Order: sequence, then C-alpha cells, then structure tokens
Amino acid sequence: MAALRRRLEAERSRLQAEVGRLSLESGRVGYGNHMADDASDVFEQAKNLTLRRHLENLLAEVNEALHRLDHGNHGICQMCGGAIDAARLQAVPYASLCLRCKVHSEGRGSG
Ligand SMILES: [Zn+2]
Repeated sequence: MAALRRRLEAERSRLQAEVGRLSLESGRVGYGNHMADDASDVFEQAKNLTLRRHLENLLAEVNEALHRLDHGNHGICQMCGGAIDAARLQAVPYASLCLRCKVHSEGRGSG
C-alpha cells in the first residue's frame, strides 16, 4: 500500500497546486483593460470556477482516501463493504466505492 500512498500524495500536491493556480487566475479576472475581453473573462471565470470545484472535490476524495489508508480500510467499498477491485484502485487510487456501487450511485444521479 506504500506505492498507493505515494500516488495519492503526489495527486494531492498536484491538485493543490492546480487549485491554487486557478484561484490566482480568477483573482486576476476583471483587471484587464480591454473592454472586449470582458465577456470572455466572464466565460473564463465560470469555466475556472467549475474546474476548481471539480478539482476541490477530487482533492477531498484524495484526502479521504489518505485518511482511510491511515486507518487501514482503504480499498473497501464505503457502500457495500466489499473489496474494491485492484485494477480499479490502479486506475482510480482514491476510489471509495466498488465499480458496481459507483455505477449504481451515479445511476441515481446523486452526483
Ligand atoms: Zn460496493
């Protein structure tokens, strides 16, 4: 599980850097001196915000995965309690649900 932790920690650093970068960028929006850029600035800002929320959600998931790793229950589905497939953990190291439950929860549209 040491390799998994390293991957999660690397992912966490990457996401934190990315969120920080987007925060800086959205902070700059509105200070441009070209009127014509305003509309695209607003569009960019909305896009940045959506991306930032997505990254923040991912970051929360990565943090939760590291927390589970600390408690020795990472790789266990949080919904059905079954083991999460190793291949799935390879692809998504912060996965908290097995594929079946993931599909099920997305099917309900709960987000
Ligand atoms: Zn499950």
